[in-house]
Amino acid sequence: MHSREYEPVICFETHVELKTKSKLFCNCAVTHKARPNTQICPVCTGQPGALPVLNKKAVEYAVRAGLALNCAINTRSRFARKNYFYPDLPKGYQISQYELPFCEDGYLEITGDDGRPYTVGIKRIHLEEDAGKLVHSASSFEESEYSLVDYNRSSVPLLEIVTDHERNPLRSVREAKAYLEKLRQVLKYIDISDCVIERGQFRCDVNVSVRPKGSSHFGNRAEIKNMASFKFITDALQYEIQRQVELIESGKEVPQETRLFDETKKITLPMRTKEDAPDYRYFPDPDLVEVELEPGFIESIEKTMPELPDQRVRRVIDAYGISKSDALILTKDRNVINFFETCASTCSNPKKLCNWIIKDLFKLLNDASLTIESSPVAAEDFSRLVNLISRGEITEHMARAILEEMFVTGEGPEAVIERKGLKPIKDAERLEEILGEVVSDNPDIVSQIKAGDTKPLNYLMGQVMKRTGGRADPRTVRKLLAEKIKS
Ligand code: ZN
Ligand code: MN
Repeated sequence: MHSREYEPVICFETHVELKTKSKLFCNCAVTHKARPNTQICPVCTGQPGALPVLNKKAVEYAVRAGLALNCAINTRSRFARKNYFYPDLPKGYQISQYELPFCEDGYLEITGDDGRPYTVGIKRIHLEEDAGKLVHSASSFEESEYSLVDYNRSSVPLLEIVTDHERNPLRSVREAKAYLEKLRQVLKYIDISDCVIERGQFRCDVNVSVRPKGSSHFGNRAEIKNMASFKFITDALQYEIQRQVELIESGKEVPQETRLFDETKKITLPMRTKEDAPDYRYFPDPDLVEVELEPGFIESIEKTMPELPDQRVRRVIDAYGISKSDALILTKDRNVINFFETCASTCSNPKKLCNWIIKDLFKLLNDASLTIESSPVAAEDFSRLVNLISRGEITEHMARAILEEMFVTGEGPEAVIERKGLKPIKDAERLEEILGEVVSDNPDIVSQIKAGDTKPLNYLMGQVMKRTGGRADPRTVRKLLAEKIKS
């Protein structure tokens, strides 16, 4: 047991790859598919005399992120050179922003550990260029005989989103995870990045320090660089918080340093003492003029801002009468809620629609490793299927089989029903006949039920459903069975 209680202070610097067509300062394409060093030019490989020209779309995306994250947008903004030497950085500096970033002083609302809304402070959002990529001849740098460099990624636009360590910082591993998930969701909603973690389009540097609970003083922090998996980030945080608390408890000081996360051992290891701003010798980039955003430019972006996740949750609850927990599941991914709303425009039962998406469609998509955008079942067809269930024209059991078939062939529900002969048994006489057979085949069970034990009724139900191939309405069968046994 520790003598005192501690709390972590967690901050993120998140680098997000913007989905612009071209790079930040030249016309080269942004793509993950091209062969190495085929999307390069004198500008993004830092040839002498080549001059950068700012990509307007990237600025628009930065402003969109600033608005979505409740920031003040600086109408005057400036690019700076951040100097360091590394083989993937051909100019010997990165064009980034230091003073006058595009956005400052924002917040992102998450659900805090106490279950209440918590507005995480966003200190700044700036635009910068990515570096190239080193490709080592072996899986680890130490074992490599040589390394190659690919400049296709050089100067691809990145948005760096920095949380505030003083104003509402993250206070637990759970809150850290909630922040990352919400941030990624918002950025995907405003359509400025695909945020595919595996492709490095959403990567984080994590800062963490610990302090006695209630203290306003900050402990020395460790920075863990380039984390590209939410699981690794939470593992690393858990380990690092524990390590720092133990250092303090044993009377030692936590050194301010950059650490590496060892993914197999799940521990962090010292890498180097942390650089401070002076090490980078920032200065305004003389090749780029200051950017002045006209009020009309910001207004026009404001006008085209899409609905954000929180607004959408509130609206769909009101509009469709679905529960908050269902609304949260559906709105997690913008494409899912779009699918739901397209269906809902022609569907008479939004609650049933919601259940069928969450339970049945999600299962089929998962099993096939597909996303909703590539769903073989069209929204209109899915909506008609749910309408058929709601009207009692097919049973839920049949609908499941029909949906599976629709998923394979891409047909509408009516076509599957026709082709498979799945027309429901509404023919009362035929149903009566089957019921009669089941009752006379099971005299013992019938007398058990007559004696007051109603449990075996389910067994008889099952027999009827089996003999009808699931094509009878269970409610009707139950009613008719009960009547038949009584008589
Ligand atoms: Zn280029
Ligand atoms: Mn950066």
